[in-house]
Amino acid sequence: MSRPLVADIDLEALRHNYCLARDLAPNSQTVAVIKADAYGHGAVPCARALEDLAPALAVASIEEAAVLRDAGISVPILLLEGIFEPEELEQVDRLGLWMTVHSEWQVEAALSFQPRKPIPTWLKVDSGMHRLGFPPARAETIWWRLQAAPDKVANLHLMSHFATADALQPAYFQQQMRTMTQLSEHLGAPICLANSPATLAWPEAHGSWNRPGVMLYGSDPLEAANDASRALKPVMTLRSRIIAVQELATGEPVGYGGRWKARRPSRIGVVACGYGDGYDRHAIDGTPVLVEGQRTAIAGKVSMDMLTVDITDMPEVGIGSSVVLWGKADNGTLLSIDEVARHCDTISYTLLTGILPRVPRRYQ
Ligand code: PLP
Repeated sequence: MSRPLVADIDLEALRHNYCLARDLAPNSQTVAVIKADAYGHGAVPCARALEDLAPALAVASIEEAAVLRDAGISVPILLLEGIFEPEELEQVDRLGLWMTVHSEWQVEAALSFQPRKPIPTWLKVDSGMHRLGFPPARAETIWWRLQAAPDKVANLHLMSHFATADALQPAYFQQQMRTMTQLSEHLGAPICLANSPATLAWPEAHGSWNRPGVMLYGSDPLEAANDASRALKPVMTLRSRIIAVQELATGEPVGYGGRWKARRPSRIGVVACGYGDGYDRHAIDGTPVLVEGQRTAIAGKVSMDMLTVDITDMPEVGIGSSVVLWGKADNGTLLSIDEVARHCDTISYTLLTGILPRVPRRYQ
């Protein structure tokens, strides 16, 4: 029998979540963000599952786009960060990609390159994230320069990214919204602003296009869940089994450092999953797991290939029992990745993208 750790990917749940994002914004088109190997879920299978629904996909680099084109994915693909060097424009043209421009050199490169077909181009505005993009006044000048080169760039859009759309306190989000609304009205420009939290919670941010990512994979990015986010379905279930059981007397420790100590005679299940698989080593004692569909918790430090869980109150559980680290157990019980992430003092994005290649993905 092979090592029992596997990431089950529910492509129907992915499609459900995409349709939810799409239906929340009936006047927008929805790009499916599948960068970083579809947030760890496998870009090609996810792209295939979404191809007939999504009018466009988004990735972070030409390399990510090329993998999709090599697999026969033909829908438009937006490069969220554009090109990293001028020579890449040749591939943008050849692969039929859409690009973002966020820096002066990218604008100059785009305007000095003659593509076979004008390249659909999104102009990134820095409305307050202060990461990528042009300040609004500069964006206006560049907008008109790009508009004046219809043989090189086409289908121009404005784009910006929110820093705080997930937060309960809307002041900064609203400031970014005002900046972008003014600019798009002034230029008469179509716009793309909404990431997952804005798609879920801020209809006023829905533009010509939205570009949700993490919600497609069933994670709720909102500080306070709403009806829409509660309807998301988990796509990845990280599943393993108990491979050994330890009986501990009161006071005996488990794992590296011996930090966790049995406060009563205890049974500990050893699970085939560790930080060498990408499971977060910062998962503290008490991080929930499902064993045979019932909640229990991690006891002791996560090691490279294993972690340990308290099964003292689960007499029927033993070697071979099923374990869900996040996702959906066979009995239908859910363990949300967002809850696990809180116990690791992190976010679902890092847990999902952190699952390493040695964990086989199994598609359903
Ligand atoms: N747009 C851009 C530019 C991004 O960088 C990201 C994610 O990092 C997204 C959209 C999708 O964001 P989310 O996964 O929060 O929906």
